[in-house]
Amino acid sequence: MVNHKPKVGVLALQGDFEAHCRAIERAGATAVEVRTAGELDEVDALVIPGGESTTMLKLLGIEGLFEPLSNFGAHKPIFGTCAGAILLAKEVLSPAQASLGLMDLTVERNAYGRQIDSRIAHINVAGHPAEAVFIRAPIIRRVGPQVNVLAEYQGTPVLAEQGRHMVATFHPELTNSTAVHRHFIEKISK
Ligand code: GLN
Repeated sequence: MVNHKPKVGVLALQGDFEAHCRAIERAGATAVEVRTAGELDEVDALVIPGGESTTMLKLLGIEGLFEPLSNFGAHKPIFGTCAGAILLAKEVLSPAQASLGLMDLTVERNAYGRQIDSRIAHINVAGHPAEAVFIRAPIIRRVGPQVNVLAEYQGTPVLAEQGRHMVATFHPELTNSTAVHRHFIEKISK
């Protein structure tokens, strides 16, 4: 157990990091915006928010953060939502792009198609009904044997964990429930 209030960083290069900060605070942890390797050193866990994964990758390169992030993930929990999930996956399709590869997943970008690419869906998280906001979301096409699927939508995983890491293809920071963020925060003390 960490006996101080856990400090959860939110990668704040691009995307909806502010909503994640508010959700983390609602879930009972301290949220810290992270833009540098020094700031990354100060947090117990990290959220990579939704946004545009190609842009985030470019910015990670410019800021010299790719390597520090991958080292961070070797010891501490990372939760990737939507674009963040794409960055955590081992394999990215449509098109293929670089990623941190911290979870044994294959994800297909923008996989719900162009016409109706954003929606609010009803899913079940650990037996509890929840709302999931999808925005130009990826679909998880393959999960490795070490991945634990926590929720599905239309027959594919939308919330999954592998050891200390977790991904959601939807945006839990945009709904009132704090269940998903709390589940992630609990990983810090394990
Ligand atoms: N379509 C975006 C991507 O491929 C992800 C969208 C999101 O994060 N809401 O990076």
